Amino acid sequence: MQIDLEAERKEILNRYRKLIKACKRRLERGDKDIIRKAFEVAVEAHKEMRRKSGEPYIYHPISVAQICAEEIGLGTTGIVCALLHDTVEDTDLTLDDIQGLFGEKVAQIIDGLTKISGVVDQSSSMQAENFRKVLLTMSEDIRVILIKIADRLHNMRTLEHMKRDKQIKIASETLFLYAPLAHRLGLNAIKTELENLGLKYTDSDSFNDIANRLKESEPERKRFIQKFIEPLKEILSEQGFKFKIFGRPKSIYSIYNKMRTKHVAYEEIYDLFAIRIVIDSAAENEKSDCWKVYSIITDFYHPSPDRLRDWISTPKSNGYESLHTTVMGPQGKWVEVQIRTTRMDDLAENGYAAHWKYKDSAAEKENQFENWINRVREMLENPDPNALEFMDDFKLNLFADEMFVFTPKGDMKTLPVGATALDFAFEIHTKVGEHCIGAKVNHKLVPLSHELASGDQVEILTSNKQSPKDDWLNFVITAKAKSKIKSSLKDQRKKIAEDGKEIMHRKFERHRLSFDNNTINEFCNFLKLPSSQELFYRASLGNVDIKEIKDFVKHRQDGHKQRKQDTKIEQLVTSARGKTDMLVIGDDMQKLDYSIAPCCNAIPGDDVFGFITINEGIKIHRVNCPNAIKLLSNYAYRVVKAKWTNDQLISFLAGLKITGTDEIGIVNNITKVISNENNVNMRSINFDTDDGLFEGTIMVFVHDTKHLNHLIENLKKVKGVAKVERIDQK
Ligand code: MN
Repeated sequence: MQIDLEAERKEILNRYRKLIKACKRRLERGDKDIIRKAFEVAVEAHKEMRRKSGEPYIYHPISVAQICAEEIGLGTTGIVCALLHDTVEDTDLTLDDIQGLFGEKVAQIIDGLTKISGVVDQSSSMQAENFRKVLLTMSEDIRVILIKIADRLHNMRTLEHMKRDKQIKIASETLFLYAPLAHRLGLNAIKTELENLGLKYTDSDSFNDIANRLKESEPERKRFIQKFIEPLKEILSEQGFKFKIFGRPKSIYSIYNKMRTKHVAYEEIYDLFAIRIVIDSAAENEKSDCWKVYSIITDFYHPSPDRLRDWISTPKSNGYESLHTTVMGPQGKWVEVQIRTTRMDDLAENGYAAHWKYKDSAAEKENQFENWINRVREMLENPDPNALEFMDDFKLNLFADEMFVFTPKGDMKTLPVGATALDFAFEIHTKVGEHCIGAKVNHKLVPLSHELASGDQVEILTSNKQSPKDDWLNFVITAKAKSKIKSSLKDQRKKIAEDGKEIMHRKFERHRLSFDNNTINEFCNFLKLPSSQELFYRASLGNVDIKEIKDFVKHRQDGHKQRKQDTKIEQLVTSARGKTDMLVIGDDMQKLDYSIAPCCNAIPGDDVFGFITINEGIKIHRVNCPNAIKLLSNYAYRVVKAKWTNDQLISFLAGLKITGTDEIGIVNNITKVISNENNVNMRSINFDTDDGLFEGTIMVFVHDTKHLNHLIENLKKVKGVAKVERIDQK
């Protein structure tokens, strides 16, 4: 292919000019020169490189800078760094060069970006341990993570040029980390785009299906919205408001997520859109104006009393401000209405980008980010030794929705939704938490495990005799409380374990086992205990059985056999990873030890991957398995690509859920359909009827998705059947 270099040079300059235009409003004297310099350095550094699409590589940093300027609202330093973000990583330029050319700050941010891509973008995987490093780096300067988000957004926008396995890995990571981060930083528009693109590449069938349905139902939705807002428009104008009112569709990803988590069909999702009213309001009238609008709307449509959300009086900690209510609209349909001012809307959609426009609240918001970053640091200082668990805690705590509770004196504390009285106690102070015996919530006595609600006033009751107990870990969800309880339990255990050591020593002697570290560790492994301390602890409580020791002695004698087994597994992993680049399910059946994971019951035709387990060979999962995102983003090195052979004659287990009305003979008719279907075998069938409704779960053996879909279509034709859906597991 002939490349027209002259045309490319022109295009590069065009894109550069577009970038300058995007940040023009904020450029001060000298800013343009330094951006120009960064641009020229980047062009020179990347000049021999091309992207997978064949385009000059420099298009990528320019696009990332464009996103930083336009969609995130970063200033000159951020844009300079975005232009240079891949130079140290991918070109001959060193960090020292950057420091010499652009100074300390820019070098520091580039260093952070290089470190992050070192851990995240490696072909192996982003493992939990690395995740912590990412967060540490990002907490040094928020711009590091903002530029990284822009980088990821551009890579997602151009993901079509990547290979399929790369697509799945990148898209999974995006859903796992980058979309929640964008959400946490108030970048709503970017979050939605990342999620939709993430879904498009991990589960394109669902993505397309929802997109098509949304499109099909659009005219009807438009008519309904029109009917809903027409009378409101009139009244709001009469009252002298300047406003915009419109229907806002839910994103494809959030519909998908709702179908998935609430187990509902597309047809059953009633809030496919929300009505948004954005009013022009002077800064000092914002709050009262929003409530005035609320009052007008609820005069006209009846509100659901338990669906009022006031994020104006207390904004979410990502800065989100809005007033939400759900009202009964025409045709007996519930409709969510969001009321906010132009400023609030701008901040909600563009997060950081909108800052420079609203100086006062920007300072406040900066503060909220600062608070969040502080919490990140706090968590990182007390990391859980179990990195995966740490990550779950982290996600739960920092990406979760929040609520506000009050101390007896009226101080407000922020906690994740689902937090308990005990979480609150640890939030106040470690000592308060450790000695907590109960609480009074709104003056009523409650146990430690009591789940708090937003607005509760909480008084913690303590006693000096109290100390943390094992089951406390089940009562708390905040990372802070968890890590404090764990470390306190550890101290307690350590003391108890010291007594147990002597007891174990005697038991070992009695069975002629030598009491050395090797044997002790072997015994721990045998009992699946994490450490010798745990063993001594149990011994001290009298929980180590004579039988366990006897079994261990026998096991050591059989040990030889066992070691052979272990080597076999190792060989399996090596052969699975080494010999074939692609696991062909069906073909390699005899050669490799693999099975279908029970969590998603993949069948031929499903998009699948193989996951190497320690004890059970290779498990085949569907790419859209509920566990897949976690597996793919944390253990990519254990993933084998997999596909089905075409001439598949083996049967696979799949589950179906059937719901409908309880017609006479319906069970008979359903089983008839199944037995008439060629080659389908039923493994189990289970029916429940309740007050005229019935629900059935059927497990069938089928060849592939085509086969299964055919069966589903026929089942839908049975009289009384309202819905047939595939389920992941029984
Ligand atoms: Mn990049």
